[in-house]
Amino acid sequence: MTQTDASHKRFVVTVDDPGGLVQDLGIFQKTLDFFAEEEVTASSFVVPTGNDGWQLDQHQEWVDALRNAEQQGHDFQLHGLDHSHCEFGAHPALMSIMGGADYETRLKADIAQFGHLWRRDLFARKLQTALSIFEKAVGHRPLAFRTGALSQSRQLYQAVAEVGLRYVSNRVIDPRGWHYIGGNYQDCGDWEPEVPPRPYWLTDEVVDLPISSEYAWRVPPEKIEKHVSLAVEDMRRIYSLCDVFILVCHVQEVGGDLPYPQQVLRSIFATARKDFQVQFITLRQLIADIESDLVPVITPEGRESYGGYYNGH
Ligand SMILES: [Zn+2]
Repeated sequence: MTQTDASHKRFVVTVDDPGGLVQDLGIFQKTLDFFAEEEVTASSFVVPTGNDGWQLDQHQEWVDALRNAEQQGHDFQLHGLDHSHCEFGAHPALMSIMGGADYETRLKADIAQFGHLWRRDLFARKLQTALSIFEKAVGHRPLAFRTGALSQSRQLYQAVAEVGLRYVSNRVIDPRGWHYIGGNYQDCGDWEPEVPPRPYWLTDEVVDLPISSEYAWRVPPEKIEKHVSLAVEDMRRIYSLCDVFILVCHVQEVGGDLPYPQQVLRSIFATARKDFQVQFITLRQLIADIESDLVPVITPEGRESYGGYYNGH
């Protein structure tokens, strides 16, 4: 593994949902082809299981594709177990922004249906299952975890530490990307004040590598510039504070039929190269840089106040 030049701005592209959630390998391949054209190495958060007993390690074509992609410089991290049924806790309010759903009503229904399952021991058991399938498929353990729909709680982070994971990438700096997904381009507020815009200790045992935002999901063609501008604004603000910028995109969009998500990403990558001379690295490389003290991890004030989501049981 090559170590990052300390003087460079680091740009990490994370891609959610290949595997159990988006089982169409063609969509994943199309996404990788796009990154190859752009000369970007990316970190995909893969879902180890899916509907009807689908399991990542039992599909040789997926195993081959993942291992081949790692040979090309990409890497893989863990995205839930099957990415459904609030498997790792209540969905955060952020997820309701885009659908216009009433968060309180939905939260109440989810608690009634799944709340009794949101326990540290059950989370740890699910994580163990997910890790074992991931390891059989990819050939090694992941270094980072991201929940499907970004659920989080103290119990989850305790379970994450218990199974030996030290890194998550589970919180969002700029919720405006989700307002855009919901078609709201006015009055979207600003950054989430509770999320530090740089790697930070989330608990005594777990480091969060926060996501800037999602800029390339459900992009109407006339709004491409708007989405790109948000990313560039975030990049400028984040790089004025630290050298790490992590965006999330989704395989079903980047590898989907419409060209707009790729157009947005292409513009963001071009500006990142031109204005910030970024180096595109994977999460694995970022974590290596953190562990060799090239990238600091801060301890924020009042870090126990995750806020804004259900934290009971
Ligand atoms: Zn996901």
